[in-house]
Amino acid sequence: MRLRRLLPEQGPWGDQKKTLTMSVNPNQAVLRKTEQPGTDHNSKVWVLRCTRCGECYGANSTDAWERRCPNCGGGWPGLPIPTEREGQNWNREELVIAFNLYNQIPFGAIHARNPKLVELAAILGRSPGSVSFKLSNFARLDPSLQARGIRGLQHGAKGDQEVWHEFAQRPEALVYESARLLADRLGGTVENVAELDESDLPPPGVEREALVRLRVNQEFFRKRVLSAYEFRCCVTGLGIRPLLVASHIVPWAEDAANRLNPKNGLCLNALHDRAFDRHLMWVDSDFTVRFAPSLRESAQRSETCLAWLLSFEGSRLKLPKKFTPDADFLRQHSARCLGESPSAKPR
Ligand SMILES: [Zn+2]
Repeated sequence: MRLRRLLPEQGPWGDQKKTLTMSVNPNQAVLRKTEQPGTDHNSKVWVLRCTRCGECYGANSTDAWERRCPNCGGGWPGLPIPTEREGQNWNREELVIAFNLYNQIPFGAIHARNPKLVELAAILGRSPGSVSFKLSNFARLDPSLQARGIRGLQHGAKGDQEVWHEFAQRPEALVYESARLLADRLGGTVENVAELDESDLPPPGVEREALVRLRVNQEFFRKRVLSAYEFRCCVTGLGIRPLLVASHIVPWAEDAANRLNPKNGLCLNALHDRAFDRHLMWVDSDFTVRFAPSLRESAQRSETCLAWLLSFEGSRLKLPKKFTPDADFLRQHSARCLGESPSAKPR
C-alpha cells in the first residue's frame, strides 16, 4: 500500500469511474466525497488527490473537474480538507488502516508533513497531526523500538494495543484486511491499493483471490523491510528503490511463522539478493558478508560485475535502526551455503 499511488488514472474504478468521468479530470483522483458544504451553491466538498504530484486538496463537487492542482498545476489554493473525525475516538477500521501505514515508513518519518500521513489524514477526515500522533502511539507499543529504548508517546489508547495484539496473533489476515478496508473506502480494489501487478494475476476467481492474499502479504513484508533499512541496500548502500529487494533469510515457503517477520529480511540490491537466495552469499553472525569460493574463482577471469559483487567480501552489514536481522535465521542460511543444501554446491 503506497498511498501516493492509491488511485491512478486508470484502474480500480470499474463502473464507478464512468459516472465520475465528467466530474473529475485525468489529473485528479477522488479520495473522498464529504457532506460538508462547499463554497458554491448546492456544492459539497470533495477531497481530491493530484495524480501527478500527490497533493491533496479540497474542491467543490460542482466544478471539481475544472480545478488544477494548487501545487503543480498552477491552480487556486484548494478548499480546506474537512476533518470531521478530528477529536473522535479511533474505530477499529481506522486503526487497522493506520497500522498498515505505520509498518511502511521509518520511525523518523512519522511527522505531520510526511505526504503519506497527509494523504491518510485526508482519507480518514482527520488532521495530519492526529495521524502522526496515532502512529507515534503505535511506536510506543512496537517491541523493536522498545528494544532500542525508544518509547514513543505515552498513554496510548486501548484500541492501539488491541491492533498490535491482533497483528501478533494473525498477521497475514490483518494485513489483508487492512488493504481491503482501504480499498472499500476508496471504491477501488485490493489489487490496486496494494500496487500489485495485474498482468501477473489470473482472471477473477478463487485462484486469483488466494494469490492476491499472498501478494498483499509479500508486498507488506517488502515495504516493512525496505523502510526499516531506510531504502538502502545493507551490503552496498545503494539507494535506488527499483533495484532493491526485501530478501527472506529463511525462505517464505519454509517458515510460515516468520513470513512477515522483518528480522527475517534483508534489504539487498537485486544482484546481491540473487546471490543470497542462491546460497552464493551469506552473512556471518557478526554481520560480516561472505561469498562462495566458486564465485571467487569466476571473478579471477576478470569479470567486472563479479569483481564488483565480491568487492564487499568481509565488509560489515549496514544494520537498520530497527529489525536487526535475527542471528538464528542467519545461521540457518549460512549453514546451507556452507554445504548442507544441494544448491550451495559450486556451480
Ligand atoms: Zn499536482
